[in-house]
Amino acid sequence: MTTDGIRSFIDDHRGDLLADLDQWLRIPGISAQPDRHDDVRRSAEWFVDAARRAGFPTVEIWDDGPWLPAVYAEWPSADPDAPTVLVYGHHDVQPVDPLELWHTDPFDPTVDGDLLRARGASDDKGQLLFHLLGLQAHLAATGRDTPAVTLKYVIEGEEESGSPHFEELLERHRDRLACDVVVVTDTGMIAADVPSTVTGMRGLVAATVAFHGPDLDLHSGVFGGAVPNPATGIARLVAALHDEQGRVQVPGFYDDVLELTEPERELFAKVPDDDAEFLKVAQSRALHGEAGFSTLERIGARPTAEVNGLGGGYQGAGHKTIVPSDAFVKLSFRLVADQDPAAIIKGVERFVSDHTPAGIVAQIEWEGAGVRACLVPLGTPAYDALTAAISAAFDGAEVLPTREGGSGPEAALQAAVGVPLVFLGVGLPDDQIHAPNEKVSLPMLYKGAEATARLWAGYAALGREALRSA
Ligand SMILES: [Zn+2]
Repeated sequence: MTTDGIRSFIDDHRGDLLADLDQWLRIPGISAQPDRHDDVRRSAEWFVDAARRAGFPTVEIWDDGPWLPAVYAEWPSADPDAPTVLVYGHHDVQPVDPLELWHTDPFDPTVDGDLLRARGASDDKGQLLFHLLGLQAHLAATGRDTPAVTLKYVIEGEEESGSPHFEELLERHRDRLACDVVVVTDTGMIAADVPSTVTGMRGLVAATVAFHGPDLDLHSGVFGGAVPNPATGIARLVAALHDEQGRVQVPGFYDDVLELTEPERELFAKVPDDDAEFLKVAQSRALHGEAGFSTLERIGARPTAEVNGLGGGYQGAGHKTIVPSDAFVKLSFRLVADQDPAAIIKGVERFVSDHTPAGIVAQIEWEGAGVRACLVPLGTPAYDALTAAISAAFDGAEVLPTREGGSGPEAALQAAVGVPLVFLGVGLPDDQIHAPNEKVSLPMLYKGAEATARLWAGYAALGREALRSA
């Protein structure tokens, strides 16, 4: 299994990875907090230095727009026909509040057996650093002094703030980012002994719906029961959002949904059923969702509507007998392939207008234009070479496809470069990313490095045309 020396190289250089992690994780580059933006820049500068040390001849900080500093690194293969791989990740981190729930200082990396605890250990600094180690292993094992593929890294600095300027960054630098395949490294696997790869992330649209009734709060004895109540209206609208089967009632909501195929459902069903663990992590007392789908399918492959916040009328101490003037609900809709955010926005607007009582004025405020879902088709050459590389790092275990319920910048990236995209990430479900006590499993990082080393050789062997083919 290790006759090619990749694994032994990685085993011999674990200390380098740990030393790098220890330095980088000390920089609190929290993109959401303006007083940490100097640290976001320091974090970018740290990675510039690390990429140069790794051998990248071209490393730049991209700060030529409204975005926080991003890093771009490029290492051309000496082989002129080599395919180009674009690796995406991010160097900014989530805030650490509430600090009192951390058992260790979030910016003082602490090794505890196979675990390393710190903010950003799993999301996403640890994962980016396994790339650098994997690249060294690839060079050492192949005896090359340039990688077998032309490598480009684009490392964003505000992913944890929702990538507000990423499309603009991609637009500005489109020429530099040309590639044959994208490898996204910002995700996880099912379990340490169940290797997997993400094959989809959901899209998102979100809005605040406000109902305005009487122009002032009214006495409920004098006026109640004789004028429409906006809070009742919002409650009825929310109640109408799902039917008894948990299906979303927005007109046309499921029209464009790309349904799971039977082979896909069979693969999903192979993923160990861990509803009990899911409930534990969710600290919920029951599962609930669209009838006829497993938890994994509900999260990964089905669109949803969720009430994120609800309010209106008197919220203070005691009681106030009024018909309130205003009420609101904050809604978000997770989308799947091939739903079009613009079409969903139209459908929700119709749904709201259909559920606005006479005498109530409705107002809808959208959070931007929405994000499309990103889907990785199974069985493409780029996908098969990825799963082969991951499988080899896990001693031949089958690599299962999963889907992530969340939304990220991947769809924008895919649209900007127009080539296949795959996910190579080794986070684990209990890494507590975005939460107190974030940690990463060091053996998973070593496996990620090994998969990377094998993947660059695999992609080089495939060639440009095969990589680009669907
Ligand atoms: Zn991340």
